Amino acid sequence: RKMVEATEIVKIYGSFRALDRVSLDVFDGEKVVIIGPSGSGKSTLLRSINRLEEIDRGKMIVDGMDIMDPKTDITKVREEVGMVFQSFNLFPHKTVLENLTLAQIVVRKRSKFEAEEKAMMLLEKVGLVAKAKAYPGNLSGGQQQRVAIARSLAMDPKMLLFDEPTSALDPEMIGEVLDVMKDLARDGMTMAVVTHEMGFAREVADRVIFMDAGRIVEEGTPEHFFTAP
Ligand code: ADP
Ligand code: ADP
Repeated sequence: RKMVEATEIVKIYGSFRALDRVSLDVFDGEKVVIIGPSGSGKSTLLRSINRLEEIDRGKMIVDGMDIMDPKTDITKVREEVGMVFQSFNLFPHKTVLENLTLAQIVVRKRSKFEAEEKAMMLLEKVGLVAKAKAYPGNLSGGQQQRVAIARSLAMDPKMLLFDEPTSALDPEMIGEVLDVMKDLARDGMTMAVVTHEMGFAREVADRVIFMDAGRIVEEGTPEHFFTAP
């Protein structure tokens, strides 16, 4: 089953085509890694999946919902497709635990008890139970990003989008975030990941997509990309 079905999508900024007729299907459970030079449209493609960017032309179906149809509830799309950003985007004045429970309570209508139980389970998964009462500003970048991933998972998404999740981290913290992502991949999460971490792509991707100048110029298995001829 297709989780994402993008057909000939076009995104234009002024007169600049950030996406130029890009077609991409992502199947349930598939891990797609998107690589390519800076400015090639990787982030725009990812953001168009949950309509953080509105596409100008083409068709985008996400979990059976046409996201360009005005009748589609975009908040539902965003509940099902979580996003992890380069810059963590945690609420600075809320504790780690509160960061993980807020949307569960407000959006998913869970009880505080239920939300906290889920949050603690996820903190255990990312190795941060001890930081439940801490504020994001007192955590390292790697820890903040692990909290951000846990927060996405708290909504029980069907798919996660990662936009350069390790690019803002000091080198020694990249591994701990990639390890959490590898665990998710092993658990069968459907993932689309924009990254410069070629080791991750090689290890985790079912399919690697190479973009240049707003187009997908090559697509294949990691072996295809990373094995010397
Ligand atoms: P990548 O993720 O591959 O680095 P992006 O998708 O972020 O590329 O950007 C693709 C191109 O679109 C870049 O040239 C960028 O400057 C341009 N761009 C992105 N967002 C905007 C915007 N809001 N307004 C104008 N140009 C934009
Ligand atoms: P990142 O690499 O984290 O995606 P960017 O610098 O590409 O960061 O983009 C940061 C924000 O600025 C995004 O919201 C993007 O849409 C916007 N942006 C990027 N390029 C341009 C541009 N040329 N003109 C206007 N906005 C842009």
